[in-house]
Amino acid sequence: MIIALKKDVRKEEREQLIHWLESYGVRIHLSEGEYQTVVGLVGDTTRIDTDLIRGLEIVDSVTRISEPFKKANRKFHPDDTVIRVTEEAAFGGGRFTLIAGPCSVESEEQVETIARAVKASGAGVLRGGAFKPRTSPYDFQGLHEEGIRILLEAKRRTGLPIITEIMDIAHLPLFEQVDIIQVGARNMQNFELLKELGRINKPVLLKRGLANTIKELLMSAEYIMAGGNEQVILCERGVRTFETYTRNTLDLSAVAVLHELSHLPVVVDPSHATGAARYVRPMALAAAACGADGLMIEVHNDPPHALCDGPQSLTPEQFDEVVTAVKKVLTAVRE
Ligand code: PEP
Ligand code: MN
Repeated sequence: MIIALKKDVRKEEREQLIHWLESYGVRIHLSEGEYQTVVGLVGDTTRIDTDLIRGLEIVDSVTRISEPFKKANRKFHPDDTVIRVTEEAAFGGGRFTLIAGPCSVESEEQVETIARAVKASGAGVLRGGAFKPRTSPYDFQGLHEEGIRILLEAKRRTGLPIITEIMDIAHLPLFEQVDIIQVGARNMQNFELLKELGRINKPVLLKRGLANTIKELLMSAEYIMAGGNEQVILCERGVRTFETYTRNTLDLSAVAVLHELSHLPVVVDPSHATGAARYVRPMALAAAACGADGLMIEVHNDPPHALCDGPQSLTPEQFDEVVTAVKKVLTAVRE
């Protein structure tokens, strides 16, 4: 349920209302927007008489939220959520950030070369997998702890914040200095993992599962937010369809739908969506045009020899050109 308050309601009156609502055992989520203050109620609201609240002097409107996701719902929080990682890297509310780097961390030299290149091209966050979710157990599984150490070293040298994927909650202590924790497509519905990530105070980039609906993505975000961590960045990375020319099918309509339904920022990953370097540019431009709050692009200094996802990785030169084109699209659509 959401209660929109009238303009210029005094703080004491608002607190009194909140106190009374809390006596029903519901949790309160307050959103103080530029134009309106919204009091969101999470939990069992069936015993609360909406007509009684509607009749209060300070109340403008009362609406029951039919969607099962509450904290992620735009009705709860009409303004866009802006997730600030650093001064330069922020997602949402008009802030657009590029995340770039290799699929997997392979060596210190590889990560540093790529980090310097993507930073020079305008990337705001460095990506790299240390724990890799591979389909085959015989494929490269990542450098694990050593991979995170290499990313942190690149962060220290370049100043770029880092994002890397978590696969097991037991590894959480290794992620202490990681700036954004990624939950990959395969773990989007690993609910115990999501609940644990709800207890920390760090941005989480949540990727859409291979065969999950937009509502399921939002419900997974809700798992993290319900625990108190509201810094969730959603990521559309394509879903599995009958199509075989691309690795997945990029659902760009999800960007528009998610922006309508939720206040959370939405990032698009054209690399995993298409699986082919030559399709990354057009899909990156389309994502920027349709309102994505950022892009995640795989970049490798030597794609043919990459230990993972070489065919979809851009060279630093290709990435640089894509960034120039993306900036033009952003300028054009914001005019
Ligand atoms: C990745 O970003 O490295 C990755 C494995 O992506 P996804 O979970 O979207 O497949
Ligand atoms: Mn990859």
